[in-house]
Amino acid sequence: MSSVLSPAPVSNFLRTIIEKDLAEGRHAQKLWAGRPGPASVQRQGSPDTARIRTRFPPEPNGYLHIGHAKSICLNFGLARDYQGACHLRFDDTNPEKEEDEYVHAIIDMVKWLGFDWSYKEEENLYFASDYFGYMYEFAEALIQAGHAYVDEQNAEEIRATRGTLTEPGINSPWRDRPAEESLRLLAEMRDGKHPDGSMCLRARIDMASPNINMRDPVLYRIRHVPHHRTGDQWCIYPMYSWAHPVEDALEGITHSICTLEFEDQRPFYNWILERIAEQGMLLEPLPQQYEFARLNLSYVVTSKRKLLQLVRDGHVNGWDDPRLPTLAGLRRRGYTPASIRLFCERLGVSKADSRIDYSVLEQALRDDLDPSAPRAVAVLDPLKLVITNYPEGEAEPCHAPVNPHDPEAGMRSFTFGRELWIERDDFREDPPKKYFRLFPGNKVRLKYGYIVECTGCVKNAEGEIIEVHAEYLPDTKSGTPGADSVKVKGNITWVHAADAVQAEIRLYDRLFTDAHPDAGDKDFIAALNPNSCTVVQGWLEAGTRAEPGATWQFERLGYFTADLEESSPERPIINRAVTLKDSWATQK
Ligand code: ATP
Ligand code: MG
Repeated sequence: MSSVLSPAPVSNFLRTIIEKDLAEGRHAQKLWAGRPGPASVQRQGSPDTARIRTRFPPEPNGYLHIGHAKSICLNFGLARDYQGACHLRFDDTNPEKEEDEYVHAIIDMVKWLGFDWSYKEEENLYFASDYFGYMYEFAEALIQAGHAYVDEQNAEEIRATRGTLTEPGINSPWRDRPAEESLRLLAEMRDGKHPDGSMCLRARIDMASPNINMRDPVLYRIRHVPHHRTGDQWCIYPMYSWAHPVEDALEGITHSICTLEFEDQRPFYNWILERIAEQGMLLEPLPQQYEFARLNLSYVVTSKRKLLQLVRDGHVNGWDDPRLPTLAGLRRRGYTPASIRLFCERLGVSKADSRIDYSVLEQALRDDLDPSAPRAVAVLDPLKLVITNYPEGEAEPCHAPVNPHDPEAGMRSFTFGRELWIERDDFREDPPKKYFRLFPGNKVRLKYGYIVECTGCVKNAEGEIIEVHAEYLPDTKSGTPGADSVKVKGNITWVHAADAVQAEIRLYDRLFTDAHPDAGDKDFIAALNPNSCTVVQGWLEAGTRAEPGATWQFERLGYFTADLEESSPERPIINRAVTLKDSWATQK
């Protein structure tokens, strides 16, 4: 574990800021009562023992994706490295699109990634909707201090009077109404006396500000929509830009880390917290917002809206479709939590937008699995190989390491016999140049077994090859003194037809053929790869138990995992997580 004393291996601008804040003791005296709340609550506490507080604040309106993983690894990772706490906070202030199903899926995924929101006795799992009462009190205080007013213009009028980048906005006719009137109207809004859109609460800042976000932004709007947690209790809901700083402050967040598009919101973030603090309702030091570049990954879309469209319109089979960049999809595909953490670590943190190639994610999975994944043999496109000089009905054991990098993992064994399955591509009747595998007259090693010499093949009436014939050289078995007596250039994998395990194997490819499927205004649906999933019936080495989630390296082929939802040892269904090499680069 890294700390200030033994700094993290890779520094970045956020670590630099945090280390400086810690050195200066910026948050050392911050009072914390052990639970979120305004000044009246925190004053009862003592200086926070968590040296920093960060948060991951998803909106429960969809499943988490690989972009969220970057934010999760960053926020939870910083808290861990600096002896702090990271809160998991559901930013559930927008009732229309939010559902409990998403809350559960998000909790599941953050845990799966290996992170934990508890700190000492605290269970730092929060819902922004629990703060609606505090937000309302703050809004009243802002009105009383002349910092907010109820505006009776509709959304269209507000938009039209906001001004542009080059022109100032126009003051609302309601901007200078007495505080008492705004307070009464706000209470009426809350009590459901006014229809959606008829009025709203706005901050009273500066309609001529060069930053449009400071031109009297809307704080509350009326929405007669039930909320997934508060039901019908509220019909006014806070806007994100007002809710978010308040949530951070109530939770004693020290470093509020968000993506770059919120940079222009930072002046408002500070303004609103300072105004509330002036009223004595929040304690200093206030949280500080910092921005980093979001993750953009090639060959995928990560907008929740677009992911929802893919799921809802049946382009994929649910949120956990193994082709999706959702964490549920990646898990099902065979990605490990460690591989995703490794990927995020390799990305680093920067303030410059960039697009990461999908192959970087794939390489992280290979690098994680190579040292640990057990090996097995599988044949995906089976062709029968008959060893014509091997006695019928007989079998003998062959041995292979479970993992060549890990001698302690031991050996596995499987049988060799007269009829084997090999890959169709490992035989050619007329081999091209430099083809070293099976062709009539050529010798190859059957990996972990014997050297065989190909004697020909059998075809059906359509001229398709249905069987390859070969003779084995009895003294050449791997691991015996005669193994090296004959030199061959080819080495092919095989399984014994008598005891191989049949399996459905799903070979996944990129979901999109375009590296930037949704760049600009492109129709990302048009870029869907029609061949993103190919299903084959293959054979697995005897003894391969396809318990859901079991993962192997199938030799020569890649990393595969037994499907979490559908696989069983009786009926194996296997997903290819990633090929051994980056085949996409050479295909295109
Ligand atoms: P989307 O645009 O897909 O709906 P979002 O940003 O609205 O995503 P939230 O649930 O609000 O989704 O995000 C929770 C947190 O995850 C936020 O702090 C956000 O900054 C972060 N996040 C979302 N997408 C990415 C990304 N691609 N890279 C890094 N962080 C991200
Ligand atoms: Mg959002």
